Amino acid sequence: MAFQSTRHKSPYPIGLAARHLQNLGRRDFLTGAALFDGRWVAGEERDAVVDPATGEEIATVARCSAADMKAAIAAAEQSFPCWREMLPARRGAILRSWASLILDHADELAVLVTSEQGKPLAEARHEIAYGAGFLEWFAAEGERAYGETIPSHKVGSLLHVRMQPIGIAAAITPWNFPVAMITRKAGAALAAGCPIIVKPAPETPLSALAIARLAEQAGLPPGVFQVLVGNPIELSTPLLRDPRIRALSFTGSTEVGRLLLEGAADSVKKVSLELGGHAPFIIFDDVDLGKAVNGAMAAKFATSGQDCLAANRIYVQRGIYTAFIDAFAAAMAQLKVGHGLDPATDVGPMTKLSVADKCRIQIDDAVKHGARRVAAKQSANLTPNFVPPTLLTGVTENMLIGHEETFGPVAAVLPFDSEEEVIARANASEMGLASYVYTDNLRRALRLSERIEYGMVGVNTASFTGPPIPFGGWKQSGLGREGSRHGLAEYMELKYVCFGDLAG
Ligand code: NAD
Repeated sequence: MAFQSTRHKSPYPIGLAARHLQNLGRRDFLTGAALFDGRWVAGEERDAVVDPATGEEIATVARCSAADMKAAIAAAEQSFPCWREMLPARRGAILRSWASLILDHADELAVLVTSEQGKPLAEARHEIAYGAGFLEWFAAEGERAYGETIPSHKVGSLLHVRMQPIGIAAAITPWNFPVAMITRKAGAALAAGCPIIVKPAPETPLSALAIARLAEQAGLPPGVFQVLVGNPIELSTPLLRDPRIRALSFTGSTEVGRLLLEGAADSVKKVSLELGGHAPFIIFDDVDLGKAVNGAMAAKFATSGQDCLAANRIYVQRGIYTAFIDAFAAAMAQLKVGHGLDPATDVGPMTKLSVADKCRIQIDDAVKHGARRVAAKQSANLTPNFVPPTLLTGVTENMLIGHEETFGPVAAVLPFDSEEEVIARANASEMGLASYVYTDNLRRALRLSERIEYGMVGVNTASFTGPPIPFGGWKQSGLGREGSRHGLAEYMELKYVCFGDLAG
């Protein structure tokens, strides 16, 4: 079964991605075999993986079943005691070796990511380095999972708090960062001493299976890191039902996040969710216009807009509204739309046709309700997965794009007058992941950063993620944090121990 049925006349020579993939040094990256129960399984049934830029089938992968998932859970259970008992420094050495192998194979992995996800090759390379960074960072952080000694409230007692691995973890990961969203979860779980089972998005399984090859080569024991691909509901049901799965980490849509939270309730799992965003990007009229435009371009068009951190509502203070639109439109005119493997490309296809369709619906709705389409860079003959970078001005919150996540290269600009007004408008959302504030006024920056109801605030910067920061959202953007010491804690339990009667 192909997950993407797009078949459209392609402007690219047939097999652009296929030819690049054939040149991979690591041919085993293309077998599409899943890794579970201590072996590579080719699968009796196979699913197609499609290049979203052309609609061309580039590989097939094993379709795992619910029975396979049950075998994976049993294998993880067997591997847990050994992995848990291993010294954190030894676990860290394996994670570091995995990170090195990923970096050694950055070229091949980047081609895989671009071929199945669509993002420009330079961004894919960046993702590989970003993804390896989580393994390196957690390799060290695992050695710092310190407990506490508490001054006693009881005579003759010593009070300790220990941090211990929670048990088997499961990760359900998205297609927009098919490597980094796995390493961000797996790095933390493995460093904490937990085996982890990964179910990647069906659109981007090749990258996940490739890094699983490297995990095995790095010395991760059988059952400790497993990757199963297939139907999301069939594979997630055993994970949700099985009480041995103690932690579940998910990145994706809020709708699916809610379903998983509900499904995990029966066995009271520890759930961390990284869900949708609807980031306000607030620009005051005291800023350097060039810096604000560069920041907004980066926050809007990275990953072709398919990023939960993407600027979804660009609020511009009235004094520079027109100047900003002119400068932003000029910057957008430079964007090259095309196949991610073409080095000139800045904006690739949407990985899923449904995401491209959602962009088109939001554009039509905004125009129908009075927004102006200022720039819409057209490129002839591209498949329906492509959305031309589009600038909409005069957007209001009652338009679809004003109150729901876009996840594509459509920039919505909204004018505002006062600080109070923009804080209220930015906070009037059920989402609370990333936000951005551009101002040269330090007091204002401090006030905004305090009052804005978002898990992350970039002040005068569009670039703030990385392994040491607690990535996560408020409200319906999620639960828990990834990266940082808080990310490690998602895979650990606290144990309080009271040693009493010390006087004997
Ligand atoms: P999705 O939530 O359906 O997919 C994410 C992951 O969940 C994939 O691995 C998918 O196979 C799995 N999944 C889907 N349905 C499931 C189910 N019923 N049970 C268990 N697992 C399930 O997201 P999508 O439909 O691919 O994208 C839709 C929207 O979600 C996007 O437009 C965007 O707004 C949001 N999204 C956000 C992120 C993020 O980084 N936070 C990533 C991807 C998508």
